[in-house]
Amino acid sequence: MNAVLKNYVAGEWAAGAGISRNVNPSNTKDIIGEYAKADSAQTLQAIAAAKAAFPKWSRSTPQERFDALNRISTEILSRKDELGHLLAREEGKTLAEGIGEVARAGQIFAFFAGEALRLTGEKGASVRPGLDVEITREAVGVVGLITPWNFPIAIPAWKIAPALCFGNTVVFKPAEIVPGSAHALSEIIARSGIAAGVFNLVMGSGSVVGQTLIEHPDVAAVSFTGSVATGRRIAQACVASTPMKKFQLEMGGKNPLVVLDDADVKVAVEAAVNGAFFSTGQRCTASSRLIVTQGIHDRFVEALTERVKGLVVDDALKTGTHMGPVVDQNQLDQDISYIGIGKDEGAKLHWGGERLNRETPGFYLQPAIFTGATNAMRIAREEIFGPVASVIAARDYDEALAISNDTEFGLAAGICTASLKYASHFKRNSEAGMVMVNLPTAGVDYHVPFGGRKGSSYGAREQGAYAREFYTIVKTAYTYPG
Ligand code: ADP
Repeated sequence: MNAVLKNYVAGEWAAGAGISRNVNPSNTKDIIGEYAKADSAQTLQAIAAAKAAFPKWSRSTPQERFDALNRISTEILSRKDELGHLLAREEGKTLAEGIGEVARAGQIFAFFAGEALRLTGEKGASVRPGLDVEITREAVGVVGLITPWNFPIAIPAWKIAPALCFGNTVVFKPAEIVPGSAHALSEIIARSGIAAGVFNLVMGSGSVVGQTLIEHPDVAAVSFTGSVATGRRIAQACVASTPMKKFQLEMGGKNPLVVLDDADVKVAVEAAVNGAFFSTGQRCTASSRLIVTQGIHDRFVEALTERVKGLVVDDALKTGTHMGPVVDQNQLDQDISYIGIGKDEGAKLHWGGERLNRETPGFYLQPAIFTGATNAMRIAREEIFGPVASVIAARDYDEALAISNDTEFGLAAGICTASLKYASHFKRNSEAGMVMVNLPTAGVDYHVPFGGRKGSSYGAREQGAYAREFYTIVKTAYTYPG
């Protein structure tokens, strides 16, 4: 076993207070590495380092920030195959998906390198004679970034890149079960020429490292992606702290894909398979509710089943694998438990849902399709976060739209139809933050806003130019030239 991989605090690589083992979900005998686990004291050091680095970094030139972010992007992109391999090995998405995600992270850093140069203010006339009014944006301060395991490099990238771009200093806490990609990304950031303390990595648990971050008065803002329960806790802690923190939450989804009678069955099936089962269904934008009108229902279910039967579930790193394993035992237990709940509720397990054995011991699960589900069932209301999709029959477009909006969530929603009328109506009336027409609910661009409504998200949008809303604060300055 190689040396324990360390945390990065105040410009130094530092051992933690404990160790966590990074296990390959495709082969639990494969230990990817041992990683430091920070305690509260180390987290406090990281916060102090970020606070000390803030005055200088927040006043750095756009050129300095461009150079750092651009260097990070270049290294990520030039190592995308190697980093994608590490990502697929630790998280269980396929190698192609892993490499794609790493490339995305590189593109995000490139985008925010450019954004550093583009930040401008406004100058206007005052309503009072002789005065000037200026509106500028400033860095917020120390930001705590808390990320989940399902996109181990892309989500950190879409928080770290804008945070640094706009002059904030960072304390980054990745999810415990995927420290590898976070550590590799942090090494690249550490090499980018930024000063000590501007960026800090503290791997460790949510209850210790995360909790310290969200309670500390010197952390000015928290950006979080993860579960609803943790999101709510973070919101409460941010409001309870003095001063109150700015916060941004991306949480769950129960995303609908509506399939109308006039849809191209092939297009609808591809959208459903991609949305429901790619990345093993472990995406907050996954299509877990397939809402299908009656004229196409049977044809769609038949074509979907045939397509899903052909999906190869195996080791994430093997050529030919379409769907890797579930990320860990806890998540597998949750998926299997929901499959049981669906059956008990009276939905028909139409295909799949079996635990699979492969050459190596891993958390393999067949994709599962329920039919005859209703929107009242728990499998249609609660986020499963696995390769489980429920087909819900609808009479017509109006009922399909009503079902699609009947959820506490509102992240992404999709519709498959050849009708401009229905597509336009759906785009206007869907209560989701992101709407897709003839496309999977998952899969987004990086230069436009990402986020949801209702119980899925809270606060300013992430990604694209909109990211500046969270990572900057607005100042209005009045001048009387005399
Ligand atoms: P998931 O189901 O994706 O693991 P969680 O919400 O449990 O969702 O975890 C998302 C992130 O939030 C992880 O980095 C986790 O360690 C962190 N986290 C969990 N509990 C807390 C907490 N009490 N305070 C801050 N962060 C937390």
